[in-house]
Amino acid sequence: MSARIEPGAGPTGRHAGGMFAATAMHRDSNGNALHAPVLVLNASYEPINVCAARRALVLVLKGVAMTEEENGHFLHAARIAMRVPSVIRLLEYRRIPHQSRALSRKNILLRDRNTCQYCATVLPSGELTLDHVIPRSRGGSSTWENLVACCHPCNRRKGNQFPPEAGMKLMREPRAFNLHTSRHIMRLMGRSDDKWRKYLFY
Ligand SMILES: [Zn+2]
Repeated sequence: MSARIEPGAGPTGRHAGGMFAATAMHRDSNGNALHAPVLVLNASYEPINVCAARRALVLVLKGVAMTEEENGHFLHAARIAMRVPSVIRLLEYRRIPHQSRALSRKNILLRDRNTCQYCATVLPSGELTLDHVIPRSRGGSSTWENLVACCHPCNRRKGNQFPPEAGMKLMREPRAFNLHTSRHIMRLMGRSDDKWRKYLFY
């Protein structure tokens, strides 16, 4: 069995179901369309991810997701042709950990895995505090990007200084949990695909 991608017409096989083996797709050798990015929506239509068309087709065939938008290509395998999706939507709502979580002490500690971001000591939540990287007294705000988990000794040592002033260095740049970042990436990618727009720009 071989699979190939062709633009344009062909019989549709939207109800092909499980007969259409995923192995057929793995043998495809020239299917760039199978690598095309597909926007993945939660059951609630909230964009949550981008995956390759190949993966999206598997999710549709397994009955995990349904096609919301097509990209105009067909995947042919055996006697079945299937439209390649551009946007799919999960049929069951999937809770996305972290992404929509509010800024809170608990979530900062979760993001930083209860690890002091200056000395790398792992401590129970009760023994950690939150440090403003840019001190509040010097204009630092309480944001994902300016708050890190910190042990009490490091917090005392840092005081009202910027990290370099105290001879300290962050283990890594603090970032928000991913909702914002991933939306931004999806927007950049979706800029070329009109079919994504209505799901990304709202
Ligand atoms: Zn520390």
